[in-house]
Amino acid sequence: MVRLILLALIFFLGYTVVQALFRKPPNARRPSNRTREGETMVQDPQCGAYLPLSDAITAKVAGTQLHFCSKKCRNQYRKMNK
Ligand SMILES: [Zn+2]
Repeated sequence: MVRLILLALIFFLGYTVVQALFRKPPNARRPSNRTREGETMVQDPQCGAYLPLSDAITAKVAGTQLHFCSKKCRNQYRKMNK
């Protein structure tokens, strides 16, 4: 009887480990994740880089508010989306 309980315990532990391995982090599906400080991350549409909102250069292109990592990226994006 003790062996049966032990077997059940091992089975349960194995199941828990497998579940933990296959479970994705809760924020893996969200495209705009947050930094450890809780700051919103934005993506530069020109080069694809992610950066904190406070470091980004915000510009309105074709009526849409966008965030860029540098003025170079902003100018390039504007040139391409005239
Ligand atoms: Zn950029």
